[in-house]
Amino acid sequence: MSKTIDSYIADMTLEEKAALLQGWTTWTTRDVERLGIPAIFLSDGPHGLRKQAGAGDHLGLNESVKATCFPTAATMANSWSEALGEELGRALGAEAAANDVHVVLGPGLNMKRSPLCGRNFEYFSEDPYLAGKMAAAYVRGIQANGVAACPKHFAVNSQETRRMAMDSVIDERTLREIYLTGFEIAVTEGGARTIMSSYNMVNGIYANENRHLLTEILRDEWGFDGFVVTDWGADNDHAAGVSAGSNLVMPAPGPDCAIGLVKAVKDGKVQESELDRRIRELLGVVFSTHEAVANAPKAFDEEEHHRIAQRCAEESIVLLENDGILPLSGKERIAVIGDFADLPRYQGAGSSLVNPTKLDSLLSCAKREGLEVCGFARGYSRTSPQLDNALINEAVELAKAVEVVLLCVGLDEIAESEGHDRRMMMLPEGQRALIDAVTKGNPNTILVLSGGAPFVMPERYGYRAVIHGYLGGQAGAQAMLEALLGKINPSGKLNETWPVRLEDNPSYPYFPSRERTAEYREGLYIGYRYYDTANVRVRYPFGYGLSYTSFAYSDLQADDERVSFTLTNTGELAGAEVAQLYISCRGGSVFRPRKELKGFRKVFLNPGESKTVTIELDDKAFRYFDPTTNHWEVETADYEVCVAASVSDIRLTALIHVIGTDAPKPLVSMPSYESGKITAVPDEEFEALLGRPIPDGSWDGELGVNDALCQMSYAKSGFARLVYRILTRMKDKADAKGIPDLNILFIYNMPFRAIGKMTRGMVSESMVDDIVCMVNGRFGQGLARLIRDFFRNRKAGKVFVKKLSNS
Ligand code: BGC
Repeated sequence: MSKTIDSYIADMTLEEKAALLQGWTTWTTRDVERLGIPAIFLSDGPHGLRKQAGAGDHLGLNESVKATCFPTAATMANSWSEALGEELGRALGAEAAANDVHVVLGPGLNMKRSPLCGRNFEYFSEDPYLAGKMAAAYVRGIQANGVAACPKHFAVNSQETRRMAMDSVIDERTLREIYLTGFEIAVTEGGARTIMSSYNMVNGIYANENRHLLTEILRDEWGFDGFVVTDWGADNDHAAGVSAGSNLVMPAPGPDCAIGLVKAVKDGKVQESELDRRIRELLGVVFSTHEAVANAPKAFDEEEHHRIAQRCAEESIVLLENDGILPLSGKERIAVIGDFADLPRYQGAGSSLVNPTKLDSLLSCAKREGLEVCGFARGYSRTSPQLDNALINEAVELAKAVEVVLLCVGLDEIAESEGHDRRMMMLPEGQRALIDAVTKGNPNTILVLSGGAPFVMPERYGYRAVIHGYLGGQAGAQAMLEALLGKINPSGKLNETWPVRLEDNPSYPYFPSRERTAEYREGLYIGYRYYDTANVRVRYPFGYGLSYTSFAYSDLQADDERVSFTLTNTGELAGAEVAQLYISCRGGSVFRPRKELKGFRKVFLNPGESKTVTIELDDKAFRYFDPTTNHWEVETADYEVCVAASVSDIRLTALIHVIGTDAPKPLVSMPSYESGKITAVPDEEFEALLGRPIPDGSWDGELGVNDALCQMSYAKSGFARLVYRILTRMKDKADAKGIPDLNILFIYNMPFRAIGKMTRGMVSESMVDDIVCMVNGRFGQGLARLIRDFFRNRKAGKVFVKKLSNS
């Protein structure tokens, strides 16, 4: 590029600038031919490329090119391996570049606030430090190819219910410490070149228009200099977005959006210098990724990438229980039971859906490896939660006739998907009954689990081992077989707590909100931060996972800069241990969870081998965010350094004293937050935490452009209520089939304003207002205006397009 970006900007008309800041098609930006500015292609996704070859529909309904389906983020976070995350990213980025994709829309790193969030499979962890480190690794890997990564969805987007119109009500400290820290690491350590703003509002302002998030924090504090792109259809007011620090509206809103931005500049609502800044940030990424992609190899080694996918899956497998039955010798007469053994559950649903280059199943891999497979029984139907006695009886008969049963169960397709939240944490009835019957029929049963989020594991089942592959991607089944046979030693540890029951989860009273607002009342006490502080018994703790060998920890040395200790493999097999470092403040006056993850290291050791492990403490080790000083502070206090095998298996401790920043001590007492007992936080206390009155989230009066279509149940117009009932029936019907219908889910949760943003200019903002007027019972008035505005929009669009082409 011989011309500077500033000289490109100087040559652009105002119309061209406005048009450049919005998508041209579902997946591409606009080019400016006369100036030689190229368009770029953006594609999902987080665990494999989803580039739609034909018509784009952003929910993955039309087929995409074949690509390697790597394990999803929820799986990879169990590996606790940044090196592997980077390797996955590198392979993913290479596939993107080979397919002429400039921006990979991922990784996803929203916090797993509740096991019920339908999209947890796409997110790394309930802990921001682990999530951030893994995300930064992906970003480094993807961007090593010259293409850009796009961490998403920024920010506080932890529920799918009404995801496009929700207002997340959250205090500043929790925002910073929990919901932003992962993004901070992805930007400052990963160097992310783009960020996707989320659909929701954060404290009453759309994330995409939130200056506090996009400029004060993302750009000014973290030094981000790339572009912010809206989630697909997330734009509300483009001019407000541009002023707040957002660049690109996707997918293709049509001329109305650009006309609005031009007007805002002419009216002085947006400074042209601000607009130029947004263009500069965008073009920086456009030119560099365009050049990298143009020079990239146009093919990738499918076999090699499949092997990487397998290694990722292998290192992410978590051995949850084992009385010694595992590893198998490979000589046993086995039965393989469960629908997932034949057709694996290996990825989630929605915009991240990958069309894999190949696909292993446990059944085919077991046969290929020459195991003595005496039979296969389906046991249950993945598309129906009901109990099927015929399938169960067949499975039990088979189980009785063999030495060992591999019983494959877990979450089915309808359980977890973009666009809706799970209703329960239980496995479907059919699977529960099957586990009960098979384990009674043959106690030598090994449960092989699949699924991207925790489910209830009743303790009464008589299995002998439980091994979890999460959603292992296209090579997950072979990886699982290798673990069952001891060809690899499981080394994954849980990136999230498995509670005993849903009601124990700290967000249970508040999640998912069906009102206008989602209150994050539990504050900092997400996941283990709650269970550990409030002494709530869990099924499997955060950071937990077994191995076929054992490890000893010794010789701890710690100061406020680094921690070192010796790790020894005391068993007879080689294996890797994920050693974790938690820090606990002793005697401070600022409330905190009992302990928090501040470092980790995955170490491979041969039998009898010892290694010295050193973990450097970074700026996040002792800090807390003080909303009064509006700064990160450190309390002068004693801190316990805990080196651990999981959050509840502390192996070594040391006390160190840290000199802090001496911010004034907090004056207001907040008993729930001080004790960590946050399941019934009174309004006054939540208000004290928020520092403002709790906004009223209930519906009254009229619906607005930002209310979701599913809120038409409240509509004054009988016709709108009828449309709501039809939509609901369509959604329920699709749910009953066991396969999520993503289009219906999208429309159901979509706010009225998105009708304008998703229709390539056919519907203007004024037309959306008219539709809402009809929904609110003024049918005739709304319809008349709609017809008028239809023609106005068409004319304005034509004038704008003509002006653009005359530039
Ligand atoms: C999802 C994003 C995705 C985008 C494009 C949205 O609905 O929330 O994660 O990148 O669609 O497919």
